[in-house]
Amino acid sequence: MKIPAVFLDRDGTLNEEMGYINDLSRLKLLPNVAEALKLLKNHGFKLIVVTNQSGPARGYFPKELVFKTNELLQKRLKKRGISIDDFFICFHHPDENCSCRKPKPGLIKQALEKYPIELKKSYLIGDKIIDIETAQNIGIKGILVLTGYGKGELKYVAPKKKVKPYFVAKDLKEAAEFIIKDCFQEK
Ligand SMILES: [Mg+2]
Ligand SMILES: [Zn+2]
Repeated sequence: MKIPAVFLDRDGTLNEEMGYINDLSRLKLLPNVAEALKLLKNHGFKLIVVTNQSGPARGYFPKELVFKTNELLQKRLKKRGISIDDFFICFHHPDENCSCRKPKPGLIKQALEKYPIELKKSYLIGDKIIDIETAQNIGIKGILVLTGYGKGELKYVAPKKKVKPYFVAKDLKEAAEFIIKDCFQEK
């Protein structure tokens, strides 16, 4: 049986956008994130992080730190009674022109190979227009959150792009509440 997923951007969506997280002290969970994830999980969604992390390819810090950051994020969520099901990471430098750096949909394709995901009922939540483009490129609904880069992206980047968020939410909690309403209305 296939299950729906919510694909989640990491920086600016789950934790504060700090620029590169080149030290664990820069990982700060955003408010109400655990509650939002619990709501989605309780309604049967798989929770999958899809994140661009080019810092190591730029020589700024080791790859290992990205894994450690994800582990710390997971640990903090577990303390609040919820966990992410999996993390898919693009480590490429933008110049490498890989097929997984968002807005390309490669990370989501990797998740589809690993899990039986019902794409038609899945969503992607992120704070950048490239997240919304990623959703569009794989054919799912993209929700823009106004945390992280969200407000500026909505004001300055969105008008220049053809792609439109399916919904704009003030934060992850509002995005999760919208998804629950949206998916149970549709039938
Ligand atoms: Mg982000
Ligand atoms: Zn990549």
